[in-house]
Amino acid sequence: MVNHNQEDVPPELYAQSQHKIQIEQIDSHAKEIIHSLKDSGFKAYLVGGCIRDLVLNKDPKDFDVVTEATPEQIKRAIPRSRVIGTRFKLVHVRKGRKITEVSTFRSKGGKRTSKTNKGIVLRDNFYGTIQEDAFRRDFTINSLYLDIDDMKIIDYTGGFNDLNNRELKSIGDSKLRFREDPIRVIRAVRFLSNLNLKIKKTLKKDLFNFAHMLQEIPPARKYEEILKLFLAGNAKKNFILLLELHILKFLLPITAKQCSNEKNYIFFLTALSNSDDRVKKDLPLTPAFLFSVLLWPALTNRMGEINSRKIKSLILLRASNIIFKQCREDCFIPKRTENMIKEIWEFQIKLLKFPPKSKLIFSHRRFRAGYDFLLLREEAGLNLGGAGKWWKENQPKSKRFYKNK
Ligand code: ATP
Ligand code: MG
Repeated sequence: MVNHNQEDVPPELYAQSQHKIQIEQIDSHAKEIIHSLKDSGFKAYLVGGCIRDLVLNKDPKDFDVVTEATPEQIKRAIPRSRVIGTRFKLVHVRKGRKITEVSTFRSKGGKRTSKTNKGIVLRDNFYGTIQEDAFRRDFTINSLYLDIDDMKIIDYTGGFNDLNNRELKSIGDSKLRFREDPIRVIRAVRFLSNLNLKIKKTLKKDLFNFAHMLQEIPPARKYEEILKLFLAGNAKKNFILLLELHILKFLLPITAKQCSNEKNYIFFLTALSNSDDRVKKDLPLTPAFLFSVLLWPALTNRMGEINSRKIKSLILLRASNIIFKQCREDCFIPKRTENMIKEIWEFQIKLLKFPPKSKLIFSHRRFRAGYDFLLLREEAGLNLGGAGKWWKENQPKSKRFYKNK
């Protein structure tokens, strides 16, 4: 048995007969990269989410490579690679549209690590051994390494057993780990709900107790995490768990505040469950559509429901600007996405005017998203005087009229 969180014990090794991962399941680009690094004399492994997902028989989102080579050495060993990042220096290797991330073994850095006065780690680019690397990762299930030559899983933290028991465990003292990087609170929620994991009471309590530190996370990083929570096909469950654990109010307060109103809560759940269905059907789902949902109740709370032809676009625009300003304090939405959201919202006024003055409306790049958004509002119980039905029955059948969401 592996001794949890003890950094001086040798790793447990698991053979293919135990973990059942087949070499064919591994992305060919990641394999190529590992071979190039090995040919240059460096140890290299697959690590993290891809091993976790393969053991659970799920399709990994990406395949991450880790090696003893430094970013500069990786760059020399692999053509088409680029060093990126400041907080963590990484190497991106591109092949066609695919990018594979290669990182160097890291250690926690100990006293050298620079932290804020609240204990949040700012920079920890300290290279180390595979063993040190294993202990600086967040959860045991994310700290498994696979050597693709002998197909053995290397486990320093007990993650393989935890994975088979479906339990989420922090590596080391969870209080310290959440304080170092509060985004781990959100990652924990995502793994709990996406992978149906168990969790001990003490860890659950820590999630709750450290959630307030999410306020210290830069808004751009929060934006990325929100996309991961709600665009991957498990949005509804993640949303419910975030509310249940009182975490949403620190991640996206502007959305959380609206949930006490049942009508809004139903709207969020209807929309997110709809998004989950789209992911299952492989239909497009964009950050703009997601945020037009998450911010909508705050908008209508400010300016009233948009259910009458008399509402002026200018009023909507003014109210949206206020909402985006408030949101920006917690979550940074890129300007381009913000503009798309405003267009989707403006369509909520335009679509109340039917029949339209011109058929050109059907070929507007935001018609489809605006129309889908209108249907969602109706599905969540809003009476819009039959608008959805009218647009459904009267829109051209040909797909060439519509641009993507
Ligand atoms: P997925 O890609 O499915 O969302 P993942 O666990 O692979 O999940 P990534 O963001 O791709 O998440 O990170 C890759 C690995 O890097 C993780 O499995 C984990 O070992 C480590 N890691 C990522 N974020 C953190 C963090 N905030 N603290 C510590 N380790 C982390
Ligand atoms: Mg990953």
